[in-house]
Amino acid sequence: MLKEVHHVVSRPGRVHEDPEYDIAVPDALLTEPGIRQDLEDVSFYSRVYPLETQNIEKAADREWVWTVYEPDLREYRLKHDEINEPLVQAASTSGDLQPTTAPVPGADITEAIRIKARELGFGEVGFTKYNRKYTYASKKGWVKYEHAICLALEQDYRQTQTIPSLEAEFTHFGTYEDEGALAIDLAAFIRDELGYHAQIHSPNDNSAVYIPMFVAAGLGQLGANGQLLSPHFGSRARLMIVTTDGPITYDQPIDYGIHQFCQECQVCVNRCPGRALVKEKVVWRGVEKNKLIYDRCRPVMARYEGCAVCMLTCPIQRYGMKPVMQHYIDTDGEILGKGTDNLEGYTLRDKGYFGPGKLPKFDRPFFDIPHGTKEDYLFEKFKEKLENSGETTTEEVMDFAVDLKKILAEGKTTRGDE
Ligand code: SF4
Ligand code: SF4
Repeated sequence: MLKEVHHVVSRPGRVHEDPEYDIAVPDALLTEPGIRQDLEDVSFYSRVYPLETQNIEKAADREWVWTVYEPDLREYRLKHDEINEPLVQAASTSGDLQPTTAPVPGADITEAIRIKARELGFGEVGFTKYNRKYTYASKKGWVKYEHAICLALEQDYRQTQTIPSLEAEFTHFGTYEDEGALAIDLAAFIRDELGYHAQIHSPNDNSAVYIPMFVAAGLGQLGANGQLLSPHFGSRARLMIVTTDGPITYDQPIDYGIHQFCQECQVCVNRCPGRALVKEKVVWRGVEKNKLIYDRCRPVMARYEGCAVCMLTCPIQRYGMKPVMQHYIDTDGEILGKGTDNLEGYTLRDKGYFGPGKLPKFDRPFFDIPHGTKEDYLFEKFKEKLENSGETTTEEVMDFAVDLKKILAEGKTTRGDE
């Protein structure tokens, strides 16, 4: 028996000037457009417990990952950081640049920006209010303009299917480099052709949690893997934002049926090597979601080339949303690819191949990683030393002070991009 279709979502084609892409959403998957959330709770947490970027809050483990990287990944990451740094720097000061042309009075610039961004190669482009409730504490004074242009750049299909691998990391980090450069062109277009300010929010020095804004702009919905599932490439994309003060018309959130689909699919949850994804949704800071367990994910990501098995095994990443939804409708609720080696299989370097139903095992120490900021980690190590030796020398105290000073001098500008 077929599932009933409730509505059809029409989206732009995968690349600029491709024909429209229609996705049938069945009755059985209907929940609500966008994100299920309690706005009062979201506001409360934002005011009282503002979010902070992982570049600061998790700096200790972000530094630790370099100690467990395979040598070839380490070499590649160093090169990537060198290429990427000027792009991140350019983004950080982009909001101060002045427009070089006068705007056309009364003209809405939404479609001009959408077309330009698509011409540049962004696969998903949407518009919404920049939501300061999701801004990181350290970025609160930095964000200048109120309209968010949400941009997703697709990463290479073939390379992504080799996850986890160095090859897949080439497209992961390479896509960041590409979009950092493309955003500079888009911001210049807004300033020099349309006459308004544009501030680039680097994907490697994020100003906020971006996914809620992408969902508000109708570009997809939050999957059980904690990633934005968009129509053409699921989570196989890198996200960034440009904000502007030009006159913009906002897009609207869409119900693609993803909330309910993920509850029935669960492939990423079942395939995660670190058992870091959870089956049941919880309400976290006012938002209903499947909350990833960071401490079970990070050790796997660090040691297995970014892992991302949760991206690899997602049917929407692999096949696209349209055929996945159509298969669900035609087969009375089957999940395309579920239970097959084609979708669910992966290989971990020193562990071998894992097909459906099989997962690798790790011992307890595998999951011991440093926690918190760099200062937290330094204090933790110093405390351990005191506890173990019972006393400390003046030299050790001096070393501690020097290390702490170094960390404080680095300030809150540490960046990373995993
Ligand atoms: S990156 Fe790997 S360990 Fe982390 S949630 Fe995804 S599948 Fe699990
Ligand atoms: S694998 Fe399935 S459950 Fe996980 S994000 Fe993709 S669609 Fe949702």
